[in-house]
Amino acid sequence: MTDQADNISNQEAADGGEQKRGISRRQALRYIGTGAGIILAGGAGGSYGYRRSLRISSADAERLKSVRFVVAGGSVGGLSVAARILRAMPDADVTVIEPNDKHHYQPGYTLVSAGVYDPEEVVFDQRSLMFPEMKWVRDSVKTFDPENNRVITRGGETVNYDYLIVGLGVQMNYNSVENFAEALETPYAGNIYDLDKGIKYRRLMEEFEGGKFVSTYPQGFVKCGGAPQKITWLSEDYWRRKGIRDDVEVHFHSNRHTLFPPVPVVDEAVKPKIEARGIHNHYNQTLRAIDVSTKTAIFEEEREDGSTREVRQRYDLLHPMPMFQTPAALRESELTAEGIGGQIEVDRELLQHRRFSNVFGIGDCAATGAPKTAATIRKQAPVVAANVIDAALDRELQAKYDGTSGCPLLTRYGRCMMFEFDYDGNLVNEWLYQSTRETRLWWHFKVHGLKSLYLNVLLNGYVNV
Ligand SMILES: Cc1cc2nc3c(=O)[nH]c(=O)nc-3n(C[C@H](O)[C@H](O)[C@H](O)COP(=O)(O)OP(=O)(O)OC[C@H]3O[C@@H](n4cnc5c(N)ncnc54)[C@H](O)[C@@H]3O)c2cc1C
Repeated sequence: MTDQADNISNQEAADGGEQKRGISRRQALRYIGTGAGIILAGGAGGSYGYRRSLRISSADAERLKSVRFVVAGGSVGGLSVAARILRAMPDADVTVIEPNDKHHYQPGYTLVSAGVYDPEEVVFDQRSLMFPEMKWVRDSVKTFDPENNRVITRGGETVNYDYLIVGLGVQMNYNSVENFAEALETPYAGNIYDLDKGIKYRRLMEEFEGGKFVSTYPQGFVKCGGAPQKITWLSEDYWRRKGIRDDVEVHFHSNRHTLFPPVPVVDEAVKPKIEARGIHNHYNQTLRAIDVSTKTAIFEEEREDGSTREVRQRYDLLHPMPMFQTPAALRESELTAEGIGGQIEVDRELLQHRRFSNVFGIGDCAATGAPKTAATIRKQAPVVAANVIDAALDRELQAKYDGTSGCPLLTRYGRCMMFEFDYDGNLVNEWLYQSTRETRLWWHFKVHGLKSLYLNVLLNGYVNV
């Protein structure tokens, strides 16, 4: 943990006295995160418990031994399903196709850029997160060939499958904003969606002495739709604490019509808090180009009468966001369809492909309409694991994903609004979260608890939480 984080906890100790009889709240939350993993693991009762929960008899297990499960993409989506299958059947034939030997805990990127985590706190050895029983093809999928139940890798290997789970994620499309890459090469712009550019952003934020800060939110589907706001609000709070807030103008330009449209109740609660901090929000504006020589962001604004106009905003520090896209192997394959932006075409409840019944999609690359977050995967993984097993046993698919996702909205250092919501934007488990309140508890849970749950529970395929 960095100086910034230490400063913040010193501040909090001064504010409210965090230390209580030898154990701090921070330590308690860290223990809760790890403890939850251990308890849930124990509660699962080993592979027998998993077999029961997936309704796999001994005869079924014998039959499933010869089924080839292939997982394309070995990040949190792919691995959490692979792990669940192996928890139930340690001798299942599970192959993971993943090119990277480092796994990035992306939900921690915002905290790296805000100076709370050190970069090495979010990077893990890929093999250490995989079960020894997983066969690892260390390569990228080049071609999906669902007609012939096979994928072909960039290195030319053909991997045949009986059931395929696709978890390729989404990536920034640098070409969607003119001069995006060029802008990121200048000393006036950074981006938290890439670890190196996020480290750079942190330095720029810390060294900023005043001027105009411009942050943007893109068109189309977005990985963690809360992150562009979070870094804007944390930056503003950083400069306030640094004592230079009066010298900074903060502008947030969003493609959307309000600050947090997926959940109206949260939007109504957070908007006045943000506006009261003097942050200028601009809606219905999409970043189209960056003029690097004059340090100007160029937006297309959509007006109420349907017409558009160009809006130019000068900046001294820029956090630009391009659109997202799925990897070429997926968006150019038969697994996608017209009008879904290259995502895998799945039934949003069953997570099964609409045309290829032995193919399933999970996580960011799946066209469910759910938010693209690890919190979504936490709810999708048990559904995909159960349904792929049912499909392999020729049973009717029973598990359904209800659209639940979650978001820790970091509104300032030491404060977070935490909530879960469904497909319709209704709050879920509100008794627990009290979503409209900015609390220190949820900040600590995000910083100290969630990573542990992600690593120890989700990636290990433990029971549903
Ligand atoms: C800045 C930021 C902040 C975030 N904050 C939060 C948060 O607070 N809470 C939260 O829940 N979520 C958050 N997220 C979102 C979360 O990280 C993602 O939703 C999650 O990582 C998606 O998992 P995934 O497995 O679907 O895809 P990814 O994690 O993107 O993984 C895709 C995998 O597929 C592999 N791959 C790509 N192409 C190929 C190919 N052709 N062949 C084989 N493999 C391939 C990649 O190497 C990668 O390992 C955040 C993300 C970012 C970037």
